[in-house]
Amino acid sequence: MKLIFTGDGKGKTCSAVGLALRAWGQGKKVLFISFLKDALRSGEFKAINLLSSSDLVFFSFGRRCPYEENEDCCPGKCECIVLPSNIEEDDYDIINKGLEIAEKEILSELWDVVVLDEIVNVYNLFPRFKIDIMRLLKNIPDKTDIVFTGRNCPPELLDLVDLVSEIKNVKHPFNEGIKAKRGIDY
Ligand code: ATP
Ligand code: MG
Repeated sequence: MKLIFTGDGKGKTCSAVGLALRAWGQGKKVLFISFLKDALRSGEFKAINLLSSSDLVFFSFGRRCPYEENEDCCPGKCECIVLPSNIEEDDYDIINKGLEIAEKEILSELWDVVVLDEIVNVYNLFPRFKIDIMRLLKNIPDKTDIVFTGRNCPPELLDLVDLVSEIKNVKHPFNEGIKAKRGIDY
């Protein structure tokens, strides 16, 4: 099955992590690949590593946080999220590497479930990768379930999948100036 979690509300990545854990609990082999953000600081990365199973693997192809040592720094605050306003040349290389590995792993048919977290944002922010992401989605093996996440999913991606959930923002403390919270937002 092909799934997309999109929308402007909180919960897309949390849902994908929940699905990954659920699938792993059912004996599936699960690969979680994160793009754009510094996922190495996220609770989901730490949790999956604590489980230390070769059947539940997490790769991060985001931008590393320059202030990692600073406990006050959070992913909602510093430059470790790739945004339209701060794209750097290195981002292209990291994303390109991530997409190559994602495609190779998917086509290997080693994995029952593959999550590509924030891949919709890659699609929207980096037009040069659109063709690669489309090809990847069109060539998913029958045995593999794939999950895409990210805001503002365009219709051409929605058309290619079986299930779409849109998470709507009703209220978010960020809009009151409150920064991301460890254990809730990352
Ligand atoms: P989560 O990782 O918590 O499931 P998400 O994947 O749905 O969130 P993203 O668009 O990837 O959301 O953004 C991740 C960060 O942005 C999180 O810290 C999240 O709390 C925050 N966020 C999510 N929705 C909103 C919103 N509507 N307004 C402001 N910040 C938001
Ligand atoms: Mg997310």
